[in-house]
Amino acid sequence: MTPKDEKTKVRAERVDTKCGSIGHMTADEIKKRTIGPDVNVSCPDCGEIHLTPEDVTEAQAKKLTATPKFKKIEADAEQQRKG
Ligand SMILES: [Zn+2]
Repeated sequence: MTPKDEKTKVRAERVDTKCGSIGHMTADEIKKRTIGPDVNVSCPDCGEIHLTPEDVTEAQAKKLTATPKFKKIEADAEQQRKG
């Protein structure tokens, strides 16, 4: 294994980041990826606890539709439909 491979692997295992590239995770997914006895199962993306993949899907949908960017896209699409 080269040093570069090792670096990539370490980065993929991080869950304690707010950078937004990981996305929502269920409590089980977080437990699987966390080493040590103290497991914080709150989602690294939004801070809520998702117990099932369905909860994650719901959180993703909620987040997307709640952004100003999405509202603008939605409004623009509505304008185009009206012509
Ligand atoms: Zn979440």
